[in-house]
Amino acid sequence: MNISKRVEQITPSSTLAITAKAKQLKQEGHDVIGLGAGEPDFNTPSYIIEAAYKSMLEGHTKYTPAGGMQSLKEAIQQKLQNDQQLSYSTDELIVTAGAKHALSLLFQALLNEGDKVVIPAPYWVSYPEQVKVAGGVPVIVESKEENEFKVTPEQLEASIDERTKAFILNSPSNPTGVVYSKEEIKALAEICLKHDIVIVSDEIYEKLMYQSTVHVSPAQLSEQVRNQTVIINGVSKSHSMTGWRIGFAAGNQALIKGMSNLASHTTSNPAVMAQYGALAAYQENDDAVEEMRQSFEGRLEKSFERLQQIDGVECVKPQGAFYLFPNVRKAVESGGFTDVDEWAKTLLEEEKVAVVPGSGFGAPDNVRLSYATSLEQVEAALDRIERFIQKHK
Ligand code: PLP
Repeated sequence: MNISKRVEQITPSSTLAITAKAKQLKQEGHDVIGLGAGEPDFNTPSYIIEAAYKSMLEGHTKYTPAGGMQSLKEAIQQKLQNDQQLSYSTDELIVTAGAKHALSLLFQALLNEGDKVVIPAPYWVSYPEQVKVAGGVPVIVESKEENEFKVTPEQLEASIDERTKAFILNSPSNPTGVVYSKEEIKALAEICLKHDIVIVSDEIYEKLMYQSTVHVSPAQLSEQVRNQTVIINGVSKSHSMTGWRIGFAAGNQALIKGMSNLASHTTSNPAVMAQYGALAAYQENDDAVEEMRQSFEGRLEKSFERLQQIDGVECVKPQGAFYLFPNVRKAVESGGFTDVDEWAKTLLEEEKVAVVPGSGFGAPDNVRLSYATSLEQVEAALDRIERFIQKHK
């Protein structure tokens, strides 16, 4: 059957492909170490699970408003106030089935056919695909590794034309883990204001910040920038709730209304019990979140140190999220591999270590290693990677 051109052009997610292959090898009895995961390895804190369970027993098992329960919107409103001193009315908030769904609704509500969205590379794999599905055109701007994978204001300005509608800022970044400073965000935001471009600020890793780095949202810079920004966030990474599928967007009221209307005709509300779980997550203090953050930071420090000892690998030190994004070009070349995809595939076959090739993130010299798995596993994987590189020199 002929499927639509719109869907035909979608590239399958590279992160899911490698995870599937690793899973298959594991099922065949191989000792596979998966560093492909895009989710925390902890269980969801128990108070959240209990709140969701209790809500169902109390009869909260029916439809809610498509854009989310009022009580959850109020809890998100409070979270934005407490964490970022940002004031939003509940009409400026929508609850969605994960941050991914918020982004997808956003592009569909924002873009007309041919509108352009500037996406810094390396990028999270779904941005270009979501923009395309919404009829938009992704404009990829390659950040330089020497500049810690951050786009410069000059690069942003040079990528803009009259069809540019939005710019995606993802700090901390998936896959690089780098964090933009307040000054860097300010310089980019000024350009967006000048050209009337919407800033899509994906803050899903906001709570996973290390080395005392402070998270800054463009919306915090000024009222003007706030009005030009749509914040995307959710509980997936902060509260280890990836499977619950709760995210949110905060931004312009008309845009949010458009997104809610779209949700009302497609998904309807995000699962009600998951909304109750998220409500508990946002109403409770962040002790459990902080405990997970500290654990990630410990793993980052140790695994980064170990990674630096491996010949043929260079890595920008991340300040957030739970990924390392080393450049393995030297190892790929000296091993005689055609590209990083082949290198990663052979690594999985020979050493049973699953990493995600950077090609899917627009960075063909790098691989993404997730340390959202025990330190013991990460260290064993790094030993295997070193052995693999030595073997193929
Ligand atoms: N944005 C980024 C940068 C991500 O890495 C992810 C998940 O991997 C998402 C959004 C989606 O988050 P969610 O699971 O809440 O849909």
